[in-house]
Amino acid sequence: MGNIEVFNQNYIFILTLATLGFLLFSCFYASGDSDKLFAPMWMLFIGFVAEFAAEGIVAAATEVYAQGGSVESYIFAELLLLLLAAIFMGMAATSILATNLASYIFAGAIGALGAIAIALFVFIIPDGNIVNSMRYIFPLAGFACIAIGFWAKAGQEHRGGFLLGAVAASAVAFWILLKFFDFAPEIKAAPYIAAMFYLTMAFAFMMMKSDILYTRIEKANQQIEKYNDRIEEMIRLSPFPIIISRLGDDKIILANNNACKLFGINAKELDRYHLKDFFADSDNRQLLTERLEAEKEVQDFEILVKTPTSDTPFWLLASANVMDYNYDLVLYSAFQDITSRKNRENLLKNQAIRDPLTSLYNRRYFEDEVSKQILALKAKNSPYSVLMLDADFFKKVNDTYGHKTGDKVLIELASTAERALRDNDIVARYGGEEFVVFLPGIKAEDGKGVADRLRQSIGMQTVYSDDNTPVKFTVSVGVSSSEISDNVDMLIKTADEALYKAKQNGRNRVEVFEAHDLEAFMAQGQVERKDESQNHHPIFDKEKSAEISLLDGIEENKISDDKVFVEEQNISSQTNKDA
Ligand code: GH3
Ligand code: MG
Ligand code: MG
Repeated sequence: MGNIEVFNQNYIFILTLATLGFLLFSCFYASGDSDKLFAPMWMLFIGFVAEFAAEGIVAAATEVYAQGGSVESYIFAELLLLLLAAIFMGMAATSILATNLASYIFAGAIGALGAIAIALFVFIIPDGNIVNSMRYIFPLAGFACIAIGFWAKAGQEHRGGFLLGAVAASAVAFWILLKFFDFAPEIKAAPYIAAMFYLTMAFAFMMMKSDILYTRIEKANQQIEKYNDRIEEMIRLSPFPIIISRLGDDKIILANNNACKLFGINAKELDRYHLKDFFADSDNRQLLTERLEAEKEVQDFEILVKTPTSDTPFWLLASANVMDYNYDLVLYSAFQDITSRKNRENLLKNQAIRDPLTSLYNRRYFEDEVSKQILALKAKNSPYSVLMLDADFFKKVNDTYGHKTGDKVLIELASTAERALRDNDIVARYGGEEFVVFLPGIKAEDGKGVADRLRQSIGMQTVYSDDNTPVKFTVSVGVSSSEISDNVDMLIKTADEALYKAKQNGRNRVEVFEAHDLEAFMAQGQVERKDESQNHHPIFDKEKSAEISLLDGIEENKISDDKVFVEEQNISSQTNKDA
């Protein structure tokens, strides 16, 4: 046989071995992470190795034959190996088809392989030499099948890279095919052809692997898209306002209708906004960011927000968490409008600490707050003063112009005091027409000045009665200070004592409780004053009732009249129900 010269050339042998090695690598690579590819790849590889071994046996037989030896056992071994190769390749092809790996086109290619093999066997090699026929069939059929299969598959996928690779592999296969027919009669080119064949196969396998990876990525992408579509649908239908913003640049990438309505934004212009545009308070936002960085999610976090077009803030309850969305790390935030709840809370809080008529703080708040402030001021060695104000002859205002006008006077008095004093001074309605003021950082002497200015300001105000009569009013003021006591109760009592003096000394004036007054005051103790009947002291109000009510100071008989009226109403409504 003539192929001995070719095969003996070492470089052809090494080339063949090297390409077989490359094929081994590509089998390994291609079957590495695909269960579907694993079996067919390795079956094909075993088939090729059997073919390669058969070629080796032919070479050895040729040498023996040249020396006149018997080659029967060699030919038997070669046939056996070719049969093995045929079986393994057949199994590989079946396995590829069975796993539905390469669709109908691949099946067609394998069908073509059979047709070519039959044509070769019947028409092209008419000498009927089965050994020779088998030698032709396998290399030819093997790569014809793979080349056609991959070319078709790549064409089907329409992907530039794969298509180019597949066309190149097919061209090589075609060229080898032509060569095969050139050399076929002498068979000497068989090892050369085998080398080229293995190489082509190796490329083909690698393309197959890329193709599978590509398909898998595409499938994963479709999955992600489907998943995102579902999320978007859920978000759109949610009864709560929901916003998705990118973590990287804070940009809004999705907002449902409820969120657009809540923040007053147009759904088509989402990309104009960042999440931070909606925060009304940067500290509040910072706190949320820190919590999210630490815990990746927050539940029921109260945030103060605004719409991008208005500055009026409102409260939302936010739940937010960091998640993957469309290959981005995003913040998913759901909101609940709690403005009305917040307003109610604030109202309740104010109701607890404020006087409804004048909106000033009430006595309880004053006492709590002032005791706290005194502690802090004492620590800093800072002075403070307490003023006790009482409207002069207030009964007369009520009696002359009516209770409503009296109320007007109290409201005017309160607002004048608030206007005249500093922000950190505390003004409270202590009882009926008595007010109390805490002046932090002000010593007795300056406290007297403040009290006098306040008294003058009040004296300049006028309110108008129902029949438009101008009503003027004045106050008397008692001053106590940190020089006297650091106890709120004592400060109020001593300021009240000074106020009593101001009343006695003619009203519309300020008196200061001095340190030297203390001794007499203490000695006097709980002993009642002689003129107790005309007493206007809040202290006694306080001792009578823990809380000053709106009805404080309203004449006894009027209260009982009102009570009777209320009771009558209850009875009539009860009878209505019964009827
Ligand atoms: P004096 O200069 O001695 O303080 O005289 P006065 O008339 O102000 O005396 P007194 O302190 O005894 O009078 C308090 C009056 O204030 C009694 C009450 O009718 C009235 N008063 C208390 N609370 C209210 C209120 O909420 N509205 C109105 N209109 N009057 C009130
Ligand atoms: Mg009074
Ligand atoms: Mg009074």
